[in-house]
Amino acid sequence: MTHSDDFLAVHDPAATRPAHAPDVGSGRWWGFAVALAAGLLLLCALTWLVSVQRGLASLQQSTATRADRYAATLESTLDRYEFLPALVSLHPFVRGLLDSPDDPQRVAAANQYLAEVNRRAHASATYVIAANGIALAASNHGQPGSFVGTDYRFRPYFQTAAGGKMGRFYAIGITSDEPGYYLAQPVESGGKVIGVTVVKLNLEWFQRAGSGAEPLMVSDDHGVIFLSSVSAWQYRTLRPLPPPLQAEMEKTRQYHGRAVTPLPLEPLTSPVTRWLADTTLADGARLVRVRDESPASKTTSAPDGAERAVRYLELDRTVGAAGWTMQVMAPLEPVLANARNATVAAALAYACICLLLVNWRQRRQRARDMQYSRRLLEAAYDQLERRVEARTADLMAINEKLEDEVAERTRAESELRAAQDELVQASKLAALGQMAAGITHELNQPLAALRTFSDNTRVLLERGQLAAAEGNLTAIADLTERMGKITGQLKLFAGKARPVHRPVALRAAVDHVLALLAPRLGAVTVNVTGLDALPGLAVRADELKLEQVLLNLLGNALDAIAAAAPAQGQIDLEVQAEDHAVTIVVRDNGTGIAPQALPRLFEPFFTTKETGQGLGLGLAISSSIVREFGGQLSVANVPGGGAQFTLVLARAPAIDPAPSVSASQ
Ligand code: ADP
Repeated sequence: MTHSDDFLAVHDPAATRPAHAPDVGSGRWWGFAVALAAGLLLLCALTWLVSVQRGLASLQQSTATRADRYAATLESTLDRYEFLPALVSLHPFVRGLLDSPDDPQRVAAANQYLAEVNRRAHASATYVIAANGIALAASNHGQPGSFVGTDYRFRPYFQTAAGGKMGRFYAIGITSDEPGYYLAQPVESGGKVIGVTVVKLNLEWFQRAGSGAEPLMVSDDHGVIFLSSVSAWQYRTLRPLPPPLQAEMEKTRQYHGRAVTPLPLEPLTSPVTRWLADTTLADGARLVRVRDESPASKTTSAPDGAERAVRYLELDRTVGAAGWTMQVMAPLEPVLANARNATVAAALAYACICLLLVNWRQRRQRARDMQYSRRLLEAAYDQLERRVEARTADLMAINEKLEDEVAERTRAESELRAAQDELVQASKLAALGQMAAGITHELNQPLAALRTFSDNTRVLLERGQLAAAEGNLTAIADLTERMGKITGQLKLFAGKARPVHRPVALRAAVDHVLALLAPRLGAVTVNVTGLDALPGLAVRADELKLEQVLLNLLGNALDAIAAAAPAQGQIDLEVQAEDHAVTIVVRDNGTGIAPQALPRLFEPFFTTKETGQGLGLGLAISSSIVREFGGQLSVANVPGGGAQFTLVLARAPAIDPAPSVSASQ
């Protein structure tokens, strides 16, 4: 692994993400949320059940207390009156009446007695019925609706008492239309029932002990409610009456024309309520509901069409000797409301705990993430530091190497420069060598002429021909001047390079070079163009070096022409001047340059000439000189044959043209 791979690997979150990172753990988060929701549901259900259970237990206790109190009250009332008919039957007035029912005195005495007893006992009515069922005397005699004379044969309590047993019966009075509890006692004489004494009690005060909200009712052995704190429930049945019973009730006129219809009371049967009843309620207690039948409830019934019903806890108590059942009911709504409140409170508490839990989890996760990020950063930082150290070491090594290389280069450069200087000098010497033959040839001729002139002058002086001698001496002077000029050229080459760039008159330089090469030109013609129009044209260069370059280019051209030996050797030297540059083209019709030699032409020691003929330094030195001038030297082949060198130099201000040295001199 490379450094960068290593570095990346540390920062690749996917590669090193911890197991708790959110994208990996989103499933776990969902699971957590579902578990929380399930916990909430469970808690709500448990809270509700426990609250309802407790509420029911407490409600049952309070209702049982109430029921026991009511039952005791009713029982004691009934007990108090239980013996009253028997007492009445023992009285001589009653006995006397039954013995002589037609005796007005006895009837009056009996009526008087019964009224007195009734008043003192706070009963509704007290009366005596003959064995034939006709009331003989009554506490309400002489009053409108008096019982006296009424036939009671159809009343069950009379029938029972006539049979020799105590009669107990709750019914609505047929004469008074008032409900009451009838206690009937047979009056016997000689083992035979001769009459019946009856005490009617008004028990309606009892139903007022209850209320509409906490109903209290008493039903008979057939389930008919005859006392109820809810008036609408009075004379309703807890269970449907079988038709024979209905017929019997019609006959006995027990409820005297009241339509006895079933009360819409039914036990709660859902599994939850059954479970609650089984676990919480004692015997005689049950959960019921009573549908609301009031017209208001029908108009304002629930929007889903369900009938409104009130739910109760119902407790039964058996009271009295007549097989009555007392029902005490307590509404369940407060218990359910409490349970609802407790459930809501528990749910809120649970939600708070959940929020705290989630918050705690998130904080823990954030802390882990931060720790993880910090670890990553630290790792990255360490990695970076190591890399920086490694890179710094590398850089220092490279730097040292570079410094070594720079030193090496500097050394090589100075060596090269020295070598170059040497080469320039060597090249000059080579050029000198090449020129030596030409110069020798050039000097030999005037030297021979000098000898001839001096010999002649000596002879002329001996003869006294002074005028002729003077002419010869003039010729000698001319010749020496010419020779001086030739040697002057050599002096120029002998000097060391002077790196001074100043305006150099191009015309003079070209003429000078042509003069030097004149001995080698032979049949080759040199055409110089472009200079005549600009006689003072100057370039920025060093005079000697420029001449050296031109000498080299023209010399090479002469060599190429000599090697090619064309019909007519020709060198064109074209000068073109622009504002800031001067271009000098040297073109020949010689051999031209082989394509493979072209790229190497300016390399030092590259030559195609035979050993001893060329050093391969001319062009290398020339191009170095031209670069030194800030100019360019390039080469190309001429399409018709031959080569063309192009020299571009910076133009310098014009110079006054000086008398030139002509090649013919
Ligand atoms: P030298 O003349 O000593 O060989 P130069 O550096 O002056 O060294 O020239 C290198 C080579 O370039 C020559 O050997 C020759 O082959 C080629 N050359 C130079 N000038 C010309 C030219 N005008 N025509 C053909 N070839 C040339």
